[in-house]
Amino acid sequence: MLYKTHQAFGLFSTSLVLINYTHTPILSAPGVLALGVSMLTSIMPDADNPNTIPAKAMFPFAMGLEMMRAKHRGVTHSLPIAALWFWLAFAGRHWQASMGPIHFALFPVLLGAAFGYLSHIVIDLLNREGEQLLWPLKWRFAFYLVSSDGFANSALEVVFLVGMFFVVMYGLALQYPVFGHAWQLAHHAFPIIPAA
Ligand SMILES: [Zn+2]
Repeated sequence: MLYKTHQAFGLFSTSLVLINYTHTPILSAPGVLALGVSMLTSIMPDADNPNTIPAKAMFPFAMGLEMMRAKHRGVTHSLPIAALWFWLAFAGRHWQASMGPIHFALFPVLLGAAFGYLSHIVIDLLNREGEQLLWPLKWRFAFYLVSSDGFANSALEVVFLVGMFFVVMYGLALQYPVFGHAWQLAHHAFPIIPAA
């Protein structure tokens, strides 16, 4: 998958979690931070592939992986490593952070990081080259559906970005009356759109 497709799916997944699970307003410090962090963690597993944009963007991590001779779609694409992110998020469930006068819970940000990371592994399953999901076991898993670049990637990127747009709009409709009214109008015009 292209890194932009991963980021689009990471943003889509995280925006869903923020609205449906942690009930974090999108336009808030933890909401914006969670989306920003998920854009990074959603490309982090591909730092195991030297000369790619994720490897260059996270070069200390990429160098560490190279020194460990990590294979592409090996340890970084495994469920045990994704589980570590979720462990961190739930361990820090009550941690607080401050940015100047703003105090907020870190949980939505850590969970956004975890879902960003997991989203990478989930969507890479569509690829033809398998992932070592149960690392350190050597079995590789894949659905063999799409190549790692090409048309399907770009199409998926658009689908996820449109999906994220709707989720964010829904979140804003819950947060601000002006967006809420616009959403209700859209709901009456197109009943397929759920009421906010
Ligand atoms: Zn990958």
